[in-house]
Amino acid sequence: MRKTLLTGDRPTGQLHVGHYVGSLKNRVMMQESGDYDCFILLADVQALTDNFQTPQKVRESIFEVALDYLAVGLDPNRTTICIQSLIPALPELTIYFLNLVTVARLERNPTVKTEIAQKGFEKSVPAGFLCYPVSQAADILFCKADVVPVGVDQLPMIEQTREIVRSFNNYYGDVFNEPEGLIPENDIEQRLPGITGNDTKMSKSLGNAIYLADDEQTLRAKIRQMYTDPQHLRVEDPGNIEGNTVFTYLDVFASDKGEVSRLKEHYQQGGLGDVKVKDYLFEVMNAHFKPIRERRSEFQKDPGYVMDILKSGTEKANEVASLTLAEVRKAMKIDYF
Ligand code: ATP
Ligand code: MG
Repeated sequence: MRKTLLTGDRPTGQLHVGHYVGSLKNRVMMQESGDYDCFILLADVQALTDNFQTPQKVRESIFEVALDYLAVGLDPNRTTICIQSLIPALPELTIYFLNLVTVARLERNPTVKTEIAQKGFEKSVPAGFLCYPVSQAADILFCKADVVPVGVDQLPMIEQTREIVRSFNNYYGDVFNEPEGLIPENDIEQRLPGITGNDTKMSKSLGNAIYLADDEQTLRAKIRQMYTDPQHLRVEDPGNIEGNTVFTYLDVFASDKGEVSRLKEHYQQGGLGDVKVKDYLFEVMNAHFKPIRERRSEFQKDPGYVMDILKSGTEKANEVASLTLAEVRKAMKIDYF
């Protein structure tokens, strides 16, 4: 039997080339393998938990992220793309699951703990925020996902979901399987850095991202600004490739590894200017992302078509969710009529 796979994104902005390297590319591969029923959730309810003052941003990001998905090759005929807020089974499951989790357990979640500190919630945590791992369990379980591709930081959510499954099955009988988190190898080490240097990963909230939607001029300009070796002042000087973002990107994106080795050697010896290397990186990245960018603008011209994809994906998700919900209600003895 085919396995079910679920992933998602918080619609808080456009997706960038870091997302492409770290997750989108892999999703397309899993879709192409034909081994999975794929669901991708646009998690607008979760996005609103810390963006509730800016609903317009969340609304617009739904469309932008959908364009990014279609542009990279996620195919609505093989991958169900759905909108979280339009699946009423999710909050219903969340309510039932909340009985199976203690406040102390929620407070121990390491990712939530870190985020509470980051957001200054130590004195008083919004209940919805503390409970979002439970709503994430509902996201994963509505379609009975077997596999959940995520970053390392999301592992505590998978563990919480597995605990909820064990507890649910224990009280009400076997309804759910424990899902597996699928972490890319060396996830944290391989996070693509932002254009400002290798120390910070590319992130939409840090202003250091190259977006899939960026046009040719923007791509060129961002690569020209990229952090290299600050000691490499004159072309004749030997340069450092360690910690040099341009070379980090070349390692990720260039398929001609021989040429990259030659450039590295030349750069370290001296006589190779940053601009030359950056222009090469531009050629490489432009060739890679041009077809994606072009597909994106084609879809962008037809918003009705894109919204129809989300609508029918959400309908399909609701059908799947209602089957799960019927089982849940029966197991919990609340299937009165
Ligand atoms: P935010 O700034 O809102 O935190 P973000 O740009 O950091 O946004 P996330 O939504 O936190 O993006 O990332 C979702 C997932 O995308 C991560 O778990 C990871 O798998 C992947 N990802 C994000 N940024 C990168 C990156 N720079 N390199 C590789 N993968 C990334
Ligand atoms: Mg992030």
